[in-house]
Amino acid sequence: MDLGLQYTGKRVLVVGGARAARRVLARYLATGAAVYQVAEAGTAGTASVASAPGVHTPALPRSIGAWDALIAAVDLVAIVETSPDTDAVIAAACARHRTWLTREIAASPAGSVTLLGGGPGLEQLLTVGGLAALTAADIVYYDRLGPTDRLDIWAPGAEHVDVGKAPGHHAIPQRDAERMMVASALAGLTVVRLKGGDPFVFGRGGEEVLACRAAGVPVTVISGVTSAIAVPAAAGIPVTHREVSHLFTVISGHAPISDAELTHLVGLGGTIVVLMGIGTLQQMVAGLARLGMRTDMPVAIVERGFAHDQRTTIGRLDTIGALATHAGVRSPAVVVIGDVVALASHGDDAAADLLREASELAS
Ligand code: SAH
Repeated sequence: MDLGLQYTGKRVLVVGGARAARRVLARYLATGAAVYQVAEAGTAGTASVASAPGVHTPALPRSIGAWDALIAAVDLVAIVETSPDTDAVIAAACARHRTWLTREIAASPAGSVTLLGGGPGLEQLLTVGGLAALTAADIVYYDRLGPTDRLDIWAPGAEHVDVGKAPGHHAIPQRDAERMMVASALAGLTVVRLKGGDPFVFGRGGEEVLACRAAGVPVTVISGVTSAIAVPAAAGIPVTHREVSHLFTVISGHAPISDAELTHLVGLGGTIVVLMGIGTLQQMVAGLARLGMRTDMPVAIVERGFAHDQRTTIGRLDTIGALATHAGVRSPAVVVIGDVVALASHGDDAAADLLREASELAS
């Protein structure tokens, strides 16, 4: 299926059983096409799932002439599953009538879960593998940090369920979200759990893998671009730089960081990247200064990376606390502590520069 084409008013014939073709049927229905479906007896799951409402089900053609008549009446044929003989008959009829022909992947009969790292919110930072997983999904569980603006286009026809923790709203508890995912997979659905950044960086992805394994549900992890690296980059800050910093530590500021940990961070001497660090920022910078970090160490706070209102606040270890209070910085934000902050040449325009360069390379 090519998402760039206009399907409204077009007639699409899908060849395959309702179970195997369920994603393909849902996708073409979502485009506004008139969707017809035929299935050969014996193709897996022919009778086991009722076709989606709105799908027309003409009789299965029994002769070359009958296939010819059916194919002459449609604009596009999508073969999902059929016997090699019928495939050849269909292909020949499509050639005669100049009807478009495409072959699409059958949905798996068994349920599964894919934990998908969607990157820091920008469409261009979703991976090719991630997009393929979304296209194949029956149901997508997502939360607010992932790239969700275009879910309707990436996973058309799939059910989209928000399990997020929007600040101030009641979150769906982690265990309940896990139970919902597992239940969907056990019911035979192809489940995608779309998460912000990378699923294994403070994303509770590990717990979700364990929950799937405990229930015997096959689970795959697709890594994503983590905000720990990409959000500083969006503000022009490289987390490492030759002769400036040869290591970076990513730490969660969700809970206060102990003096022992802060002492080690100061001793390491590399870049410190703090996620979920706004609530504990004052304690963190005061502690680092008290435990020996240079007070003129550059610090950046990058809020809402890649969003239209991305904002970077830059200061020093001894000024950033007051600057952050004055600016009213809020979550989500990434805090970067280290000399690499001084390299932030383009500031918030860096994200636009990166994207422009990427699209120039691609073209
Ligand atoms: N798994 C995610 C991180 C989840 S923890 C990842 O790999 O990126 C959530 C924290 O990530 C937020 O509190 C914030 O510190 C950071 N974060 C994620 N997306 C962000 C964005 N677009 N801008 C700024 N911070 C972001």
